[in-house]
Amino acid sequence: MAANQTKTSYDLAVVGAGLSGLTMALAAAARGLSVALVDRVKLEKMALPTFDGRTTALNISSVALYRQLGVWSHLAAYAAPIEQIRITDNHAPQVIDFISREVPAVRDAGLAMGYIIENRHFRQVLQQQVLAEKRITVLPPAGLEALVQHDGQVMLTLTRLADGAAQPVSARLVVGADGRGSRTRALLGIATHDVDYRQSALTFPVRHAQPHGNVAAEIFTPHGPLATLPMVGQGKDNGHISSIVWTRPTKAANVLMAMDEALMLAVLEESCAGWLGGLELAANRSCYPLSLQVVDEYARGQVCLIADAAHGIHPIAGQGLNLGLQDVAGLDALIAEQLAVGLDIGSAEMLKRYQTQRRSQNRAMIAATHGLNALYGVRHPVVSAARRTGMAAVQGLTLLKHGFIKRAAGL
Ligand SMILES: Cc1cc2nc3c(=O)[nH]c(=O)nc-3n(C[C@H](O)[C@H](O)[C@H](O)COP(=O)(O)OP(=O)(O)OC[C@H]3O[C@@H](n4cnc5c(N)ncnc54)[C@H](O)[C@@H]3O)c2cc1C
Repeated sequence: MAANQTKTSYDLAVVGAGLSGLTMALAAAARGLSVALVDRVKLEKMALPTFDGRTTALNISSVALYRQLGVWSHLAAYAAPIEQIRITDNHAPQVIDFISREVPAVRDAGLAMGYIIENRHFRQVLQQQVLAEKRITVLPPAGLEALVQHDGQVMLTLTRLADGAAQPVSARLVVGADGRGSRTRALLGIATHDVDYRQSALTFPVRHAQPHGNVAAEIFTPHGPLATLPMVGQGKDNGHISSIVWTRPTKAANVLMAMDEALMLAVLEESCAGWLGGLELAANRSCYPLSLQVVDEYARGQVCLIADAAHGIHPIAGQGLNLGLQDVAGLDALIAEQLAVGLDIGSAEMLKRYQTQRRSQNRAMIAATHGLNALYGVRHPVVSAARRTGMAAVQGLTLLKHGFIKRAAGL
């Protein structure tokens, strides 16, 4: 819905229209709530291919959320299924293969282990759904400046991008989906715990000579993990285009960003050890510095944080947004309970429950991704040998692998 200049009071306001904020707005509107959605960047700009060159690996829990919201049918055309995950330790012969059709819980759900979708398509589809939803008002681009909680309402002061004018908005519940640099979080006075990994992730799509076979490969090189993720491709690209997420120490990543294209692809081919065959760059390279950022508090009063505003993690397992989408699903379920018994959706008690549930659920994945990056970052030959022995052992343990697949799929 176009911005409505007269209305200033809503059931719920979402600050940040990234992937998590768009999803939160759709979930709240589906519960019949009036929603204000604001971002300091124009939606159209955020859907440009140059704005976000990443892909997202969506797990089955996230797919379930989009099915519930009636959005999955629109996303599915852009989503490449992951039928197999193949993990290797550099060029060592040991391999761990996770094959989704071998796990009844995954196969019976009629789904793959996960799906890879380009963020530009993901954003476009969610934006179209948001703009078509009458209960959602997309405010003109504006930055959150201040918030005051008083008498069961949260008053937001927004500064409009176009003319610098202040735009007041009030809501019973405010959701901060404004990412790692969250202004909502800062205004609540919630501190973050940060770890700089001194690594950056290069990401870009490549066309390749060999078919990907819907296999997602994770290669743990001595310099950092390298993932190849199958993408949907049209025409001759079908089955022959993948997204690269290549983690290196930041200085090395900067060198790869600046490197001549042919040379960079030669280094990449060497790191892939022949997997996918000859490579060709399919779009520009993007680079993201990596850090861990977590909070102890997810809510204060009638304001709460979701997704990267509450937890930014290493992309090693492709779970960052998936955790954020589970925040949305968790909050949505609590809102539904409140509405069912006629209670306030902005109840501080409800948000305390949200915090307790999500903090404990997210902690396990935050610790796992942090630990995995540390484990595979160790170059000592003894550790490396132990890792490979461990990998050979895991490859033989069917039940353990099935459990891992279910966890990775979010089942
Ligand atoms: C290389 C890489 C690969 C990744 N791969 C995966 C993957 O495969 N699977 C996965 O699940 N996750 C992945 N992630 C993580 C995922 O990209 C993030 O978790 C996700 O993008 C976070 O979305 P968000 O909506 O929370 O935040 P953001 O995308 O940061 O959106 C925040 C929004 O808030 C707006 N905003 C900020 N401040 C204000 C303000 N003051 N006022 C108004 N608006 C404001 C911003 O403009 C922005 O649009 C990856 C991350 C990286 C770096």
